[in-house]
Amino acid sequence: MSRVEKLRGSAASKRHNARTVAALTGNPGCTRRAVLDAAGVDKVRLAERIGFPGAFGQSRFALARGNGFEAMLKADDCALLRSTLGAYVGGYEDLGADEDDTLSARHSRTRALLRSGAEGLLDHPLLTLDVAGQTVFLEPDLIAYQNGSQLQVVEIKSFAIIDGQADGTAVSSAAVQAAVYVLALRRLLGDDRVSHEVVLVCPENFSMQPVAVVLDVRKQLSTLRRQLSRLASVSSLIESLPATLSFDLAQPVADLVSSLDALTARYAPECLSSCEMSVFCRDEAAGRTAVLGRPVREALGGIETVDEVLALASGTREPEPDQVEAAALLRAAQRLRDEAL
Ligand code: SF4
Repeated sequence: MSRVEKLRGSAASKRHNARTVAALTGNPGCTRRAVLDAAGVDKVRLAERIGFPGAFGQSRFALARGNGFEAMLKADDCALLRSTLGAYVGGYEDLGADEDDTLSARHSRTRALLRSGAEGLLDHPLLTLDVAGQTVFLEPDLIAYQNGSQLQVVEIKSFAIIDGQADGTAVSSAAVQAAVYVLALRRLLGDDRVSHEVVLVCPENFSMQPVAVVLDVRKQLSTLRRQLSRLASVSSLIESLPATLSFDLAQPVADLVSSLDALTARYAPECLSSCEMSVFCRDEAAGRTAVLGRPVREALGGIETVDEVLALASGTREPEPDQVEAAALLRAAQRLRDEAL
C-alpha cells in the first residue's frame, strides 16, 4: 500500500470534477488542503466526522433554474444556443445520448471527434486531466465547438447578466471552471488548437433570454497549471510525513484532529466558499489575524493574533524588530480613535 493510500485509509479516493479541480486554485499556499487533495481524502466526510460540516453546493432552487436554462438552450439540437452564439453554427453531436456508454468509450469518441476537426457543437464531451497522479474524468455539461481552426469552450451558467454586469465571484468561478476544460483540451490536442477565450452563456437581465459573453482565461490557466504541478510535488511532502499520520475516517475523532493539526493551514475568509474544511479551519483560526482576511493580515505583516494587535496598539507590549512599522501605525490608529470618541 502506498503512503498516499495509507493516509487516506479504507475510503475510496475522492473523485474530482471541474468544480473541485477549479477549487484547487482557491488557496494555493495551504499545505493542509494540498495534502488532503493530493491524497484524495473526501473532505466533506472528514469535516462531518470531526463535527465541522460545511454548507456546500447549490440550493435546490439554483439547481432547478440552472437545469431549466440549460434544457431550454439545448432543445431542438441547440437551436436557441446556436442563435445566441451567432456566427458559430455547424453540426451538432450529443455524446451523452447513449446511456449504456462506458466512460472510456465516451472519452474515445470525444477524442476522435475533436481530432477530426469537424465544425459544430459537441454536447456532453468527456475529457480527462491528470490531477496529483490520478486520471480524472471531467464530464462537463458544456459544449465545445470548432471555430475555424480553433476549438472553443462554451460554459452555460444560470446567474444573470444585468445591464452587462454580473456577480464578480460567479463570473470568476465560471472562468476558472472553463479554464479546467481548456487545459484538459489543450493537453489532449495541443495549445494552438484550443482558444484561451471561452464563451459564457447566461440569462440576460431578469428574463431567461440568453446572452453570450467572451472571457479570456489565460490568467486562470496559468494559476491552474501552477497549482496542479504543486499538487504533483506534494507527493514527496506526503512521503516525509510521520507514519502515524492518517485520515482514515474509521479512527477516533481526536486522532483525526491531531493529524489535521500536523498540517499547516492558511485560513482566509475566502475558504468559506471554496474548501470543505473551512468551518473547522475558521474555528481553529479564531483570535488570529487570518480570520480578518488577507488584506488585513498583510497590512499587519507578521502579527499573528488579535490580542497582540490590541496590545501593540495600546502600547502595553513592545514590538519585535519586524513589528516596529506595523506597531507605529497601530498606535497612530488607536490615537485617532481615542480622539474621535
Ligand atoms: S479551509 Fe483550511 S484546509 Fe481549506 S484551504 Fe482554507 S485553510 Fe486550507
